[in-house]
Amino acid sequence: MVLMMPPREALERLRQGNDRFASGGTRKEVKAGQGPFAIILGCSDSRVPPEIIFDQGLGNLFVVRVAGNVVASHQLGSLELAVKAFGIRLVVVLGHSECAAIVATLDELAAPTEGLSPHLGSIVSSIRPSLEPLLQSDVPQDRATLQARGVRANIHRSVGRILHDSPILTARIENHDLLVLGAEYSLASGRVEFLADRPELASFRESLCAKGAPPSEQVVRAREDERY
Ligand SMILES: [Zn+2]
Repeated sequence: MVLMMPPREALERLRQGNDRFASGGTRKEVKAGQGPFAIILGCSDSRVPPEIIFDQGLGNLFVVRVAGNVVASHQLGSLELAVKAFGIRLVVVLGHSECAAIVATLDELAAPTEGLSPHLGSIVSSIRPSLEPLLQSDVPQDRATLQARGVRANIHRSVGRILHDSPILTARIENHDLLVLGAEYSLASGRVEFLADRPELASFRESLCAKGAPPSEQVVRAREDERY
């Protein structure tokens, strides 16, 4: 592993950046409050900051970032908090090409590390169920294909966990008050592709939405304007 800049130099770079930021004007606009309009659950990768790739400013997005955009209790709790506190009605699970967490999990599946840290292991365990079916399928087994398919499978899995595992979020989905979507960012093009559900997820989502109360007129009007 190549070590990057020494920690004190890194800290100094952060201090200088914060000095520039604090002396600018943007901060004052959000001091009185915030009204984020979307939640992004994305990967921690330094090349995929949601505020920058969606061209948004301070106060616009509620962002949860974790390596591999996996969903566990802390992530669901963060989503529940944002939905309740700010009434946000859109959650986007944002994966990306060339994700190091997917690569690490493929590596672990090929040759498990003895004594892998339980913390890193918990990320790998969350991603593993998305990759194992690919390894047993007729998908070409070269690394590039497995990686690309794995990124997408992992996004769908995270969307599924959000749909299934939080009664608070599920209730909002049933009432047509919350939309949860998967999306993939391409490092090559800079474009985000919003993904259609896989069939089993689509039918589960349909069954949820059929259970809920019919959407209010206001919601219907909003939905007619939506493009996804
Ligand atoms: Zn990543």
